[in-house]
Amino acid sequence: MEALYLKDCYLKEFGAEVTSVNGNEIELDRTAFYPESGGQLCDLGTLNNHEVVHVRKDKGRIIHEVKDHDLKAGDEVRGIIDWERRYKMMRMHTAVHVLSKVVWEDLGGEISGGQLGLEESRDDYTIPEFDREKLGQAVKKANLLIDKGAEVSFEFMPRERADKEPDLIRTKVNLIPLFVKTIRVVKIKGLDMQACAGTHVKNINEIGRIVITRAQNKGKNNRRLYFTLQ
Ligand SMILES: [Zn+2]
Repeated sequence: MEALYLKDCYLKEFGAEVTSVNGNEIELDRTAFYPESGGQLCDLGTLNNHEVVHVRKDKGRIIHEVKDHDLKAGDEVRGIIDWERRYKMMRMHTAVHVLSKVVWEDLGGEISGGQLGLEESRDDYTIPEFDREKLGQAVKKANLLIDKGAEVSFEFMPRERADKEPDLIRTKVNLIPLFVKTIRVVKIKGLDMQACAGTHVKNINEIGRIVITRAQNKGKNNRRLYFTLQ
């Protein structure tokens, strides 16, 4: 199974062959549908005009849940991604890369998790000495960087090399399961480098403006930040 979204995040339509059908669950030999993972919502869309209502990963397989279909193994299908939803995810996701880098640099805050949403996303940070004013400055800085723009690219790196790459310190490559031998590294030119299998915009100037909507205290040193994009 080929995950097309890893190589081309702007692929909105694709052709594929059905490899397995189990009730509503369809597998393909290749797919541009992003499965729900890493805090990013799955893609929706259609397979031969049948509605795709959910997409998930299952031990390296990608399962498309399709409503009322007549598909069978061997069928050729045309997949179409709900682009408005996906593009929002790409902007939200890339915003997290920029913001988390600035929060790391300026507040020493480490991101520990998050969940992207279509209207609002949240990120959890461990920040040793939280300072609201400093956070405000960091967001301002992130937005200036976004306005300026920077190219986003990726490469596939052997794990041994990624392990030794000092710029990947925030990613904690050692926490990625050992069976993953090739690490996808996402770079923002002149700004950041992280191991990530999500979908991103090709230039950070596509993100728009990050607006922090609320910040919650989640215990000592832990802050949950909510943001939206304008
Ligand atoms: Zn990412």
